[in-house]
Formats: sequence, structure tokens, C-alpha cells
Amino acid sequence: MRMNKLLKICGVVAALAGCAGLPLVSETELESESEAQFRQMRNTTPISTDAKTRSYINCVAQAIVDELEEPYASRLWEVEVFDNEAINAFAMPGGKIGIFTGIFKAAENQDQLGAVIGHEVAHVTQRHSLERVNRELTQQGVISIGTAAAGIGGAAAGAVQTAAQIGLSLPYGRGQESEADIVGIYYMADAGFDPRASVQLWKNMEREQDLAPPQWLSTHPSSDNRIQDLIEALPEALSRYNAAKAAGKDPRCD
Ligand SMILES: [Zn+2]
Repeated sequence: MRMNKLLKICGVVAALAGCAGLPLVSETELESESEAQFRQMRNTTPISTDAKTRSYINCVAQAIVDELEEPYASRLWEVEVFDNEAINAFAMPGGKIGIFTGIFKAAENQDQLGAVIGHEVAHVTQRHSLERVNRELTQQGVISIGTAAAGIGGAAAGAVQTAAQIGLSLPYGRGQESEADIVGIYYMADAGFDPRASVQLWKNMEREQDLAPPQWLSTHPSSDNRIQDLIEALPEALSRYNAAKAAGKDPRCD
């Protein structure tokens, strides 16, 4: 039975009695939905053809991916560069990374870009989208997802709108943000990017927010103590960074 149908039924049932027994979204389901959304985005959003920009971003992304735990390190990650002014970047289950050229307004050098990609990829390795959608389904109301599915797909039309689709568009939670910050700063440090750049990146994001709200912040809610948390993670991150340098990891992407 398709998830969207279940959601609609559960949306009604949940209003009365809750919705026990709802099948959760699987990782495979989420990955195949990621694949579809990524492909669609490539078809509808202009791709950057600037060879220098593409190779720069690929270089940083590859250096980070090489440091991931398995099975993520040996996965073939697809990186796409979108020619778009929005300050935005994302990573999706299944190994997709999307960078908008607008990100350079906040990420001013390879270390800061490493902070962005480290953070994004950490959301994937910590399985945050899966966690998020399944938490919605089990705890916080099947109603909100059921209603959204009906709203997007049309209640009677039976249009396909799975929970996985919605799951990929949900903003991350604050706890997940903190986790991605910490895991991400370690990834970048392990790759030989200076972890102190993460603090500057977030300051830049805040600066840009005053000019025009970065899209990134709408899906990555910042907590007031984000920078403080990063500073607290710095000693460990710096020690990993020094170890990476000693091991000869010295990315020269820009
Ligand atoms: Zn985030």
C-alpha cells in the first residue's frame, strides 16, 4: 500500500485515536526519493558550467567524503553545482550533494566551504531525514504529515506524494543541527580543513541574514549558542586537524 494513502487514512484516524502500526519510512525508500528529487532538481535548476567552480567544489566535497565512516566513504557521491544566487547547500540520503553558487557569499574560502559540506554530509551520516520523518509519523502527529500530503497531492486525486518526499523537505531539528555541527567539524578537520573556519562561516551566515535570509537557515535552524558549541568542540577538532596535517592531508582546492 502506498505511503500517501496510509497517511491520508491515518490523518483521519489519528485525529480520533492515534495511528499505531503505521509503517515507517525505510532508508531505501528515502534514498530512492532523494534520487528522484535530485534528478528533478538537475532538470529544473540551471547548472553551473564554470569548470573552475565545479572542480573547486568537487575537490572540497571529495576530501570530506574520503573521511566518512563506512558505508558512506565508499559510496559514489554525486555533487552538483547549481547556478543560483540563493545561499544554499544540501546533502541527501543516498549520497547527493548540491551546492548553490550563492553559498560563496557566506563561504569565502575552502575551509569555510569544507565547514558547509561537512555539516551537510553529517546530516546524512547521522540519518537525520529518516529520523525526522519517522518521528513525525510516530509521535508528533501523523496529522501534520497527513494533512500536508493531502494538501500537496489532493485528497481525492490519489496523486503520489509520499511521506519520504515530505520527509526530505522538513527542516532539521535543533538537536540534529547541534549534532551535524559537531560531527561536521570533525569531518572537515579530518580532511585537513581548518575547523576554526566553521565559526567564521556562521558569523558570515548571520551577516548575510541581515541582508536577505539565506535559504540554508530555513532548513537548518540556528540555535543561539551554535557558535559557542562550535568553539567548545574546537580543541578536539584542532587536534584532529593537526593529526590530519601530520598525515599529509593538505587539500589545495582553491
Ligand atoms: Zn543543518
